[in-house]
Amino acid sequence: MGGSPPIAPRSTASGDTGTTPLPQAARASVALPGARSELRTFPLRAAGPREGWLRVTASGICGTDVGLFHRGVAAETVLGHHVVGRIAAVGPEAAHRWQVGPGDRVVVEEYLPCGECPRCASGAYRLCPQTDLWGGGRRIGTVPAGEDPALFGGNAEYMFLPENAVLHRLPERLPEELAAWVLPYANAVDWVLRAGRLAAGENVVVLGPGYHGLAVTAAARLGEAGEVVVVGLPRDAERLGMAEALGATAVTAEESGDWGAAVRAALGGASCDLVVDTSGSDPGVVDVAVDLLGHGGRLVLTTPKQPAAVPADSAAMIRRCLTLTAVRGRPPEAIGRAIASLADGTSGLEHVPTVDIPLDEVGDMLTRLAAGAGPSSPHIVVRPDTPHP
Ligand SMILES: [Zn+2]
Ligand SMILES: [Zn+2]
Repeated sequence: MGGSPPIAPRSTASGDTGTTPLPQAARASVALPGARSELRTFPLRAAGPREGWLRVTASGICGTDVGLFHRGVAAETVLGHHVVGRIAAVGPEAAHRWQVGPGDRVVVEEYLPCGECPRCASGAYRLCPQTDLWGGGRRIGTVPAGEDPALFGGNAEYMFLPENAVLHRLPERLPEELAAWVLPYANAVDWVLRAGRLAAGENVVVLGPGYHGLAVTAAARLGEAGEVVVVGLPRDAERLGMAEALGATAVTAEESGDWGAAVRAALGGASCDLVVDTSGSDPGVVDVAVDLLGHGGRLVLTTPKQPAAVPADSAAMIRRCLTLTAVRGRPPEAIGRAIASLADGTSGLEHVPTVDIPLDEVGDMLTRLAAGAGPSSPHIVVRPDTPHP
C-alpha cells in the first residue's frame, strides 16, 4: 500500500531487532470497560515474516480516544492511533512491502485495510469498508487486547504492526515535538487543500480552535489563504490565542450571540470562500456557515452533528453555487505534504504547546478530557519512553 514500487529491503532477518533489542515484555496503558484504565505488562513475541514491532516514541491523544474511553470500550483495548516511533523489528516480507528497516522512524496510520477490495486496489484504502469504524471496522487503537499479541495501540512502549498496517517514513530532521502532528495536520491539509479547494488569497473561516481546528488553521496558512478567522467559545480563550500565534484572527462566539456577524466584521466585508467546521455537535452552525459563504464557497464538515440531520438554506446554496463536503481521515498524498511542511518548519505548529504525559498518566488524562477539564493545549502526547519514578 502507498503506491510506490517495492525496492530492496534494508533488513532481511525475521524478527530483526535492529539497534535496540526487542525486550521480552512491554508496558501499556489499557482502557477497560467502564471508563477505567490500568497499566499492564504484556509479553512480546517475535514478528512473523509479514509483521513488525514499533518502539513507540509518541502517541497523540485525540477526541476519538476520549469518546472511546468515556463511552466505555467493549473489551480491554490499548488505545492510541496517532502513532510515531521507530521500527524495532520487522519480518522480511514486511520490510520489503513497507520499505523500512530496524531503527527507521515512521508514522503509522490508524487504518488496517483489507488490501483486496476495489477501494484498496485504487489506493483509496482509507475508504476500505474494513477501516470504517461506524461499520464495526478495525483500526490501530481499537483492536481488543484479547487478540494476540495485545499491543495494537500506541499507548504502549511497543506496538505490534500487523501485516496490513500502513507506514510512512519520517525524516530525521523532523523535530520530535512536531512528529505527533503528522496525522492531524495531514487531515487538515486534505480538508483545506483537496476537499476545500483553497486557492491562494482566499478567506477561510475555521469553526472550533481544538486539535483539528488549529491544524486546519496551519493548513490554511500553508495554502496561502488570505484572511483566516478562527471561531471559538469564551472557554477557548487560550486556544484562540494559539490560533492567533498561527496567524489567524480570533473571534469569540458568545453562546447566545450572532457569531456570523462577528465573523463578517472580522473579515471587514470581504467574502468568505471556505468554512471548515471542526466544532462540536451543534447542528445550528451549518446554516450560519452557509450564510457566510460567498459565491462558489465551500463548507467542509468534519464532525457529526447531534441530531445528525442539519438545517441549511438549499436556495442560498444553489443561488451561490456552494459546495458542501464531508470528510474523514486523509489520503496518503496529504501525509507526504504534511511531513514535508512539518520537517521544513513551515507548519507554524510549534506555536501550539505540547503537553507530554508518561504512560501511567494516560487514564487520568482521558478522564480529565472526558470531564472537559483537560489542559489548555489540545496537543497531548503520550511518551511511553518517559522514565517513570
Ligand atoms: Zn484521532
Ligand atoms: Zn479494502
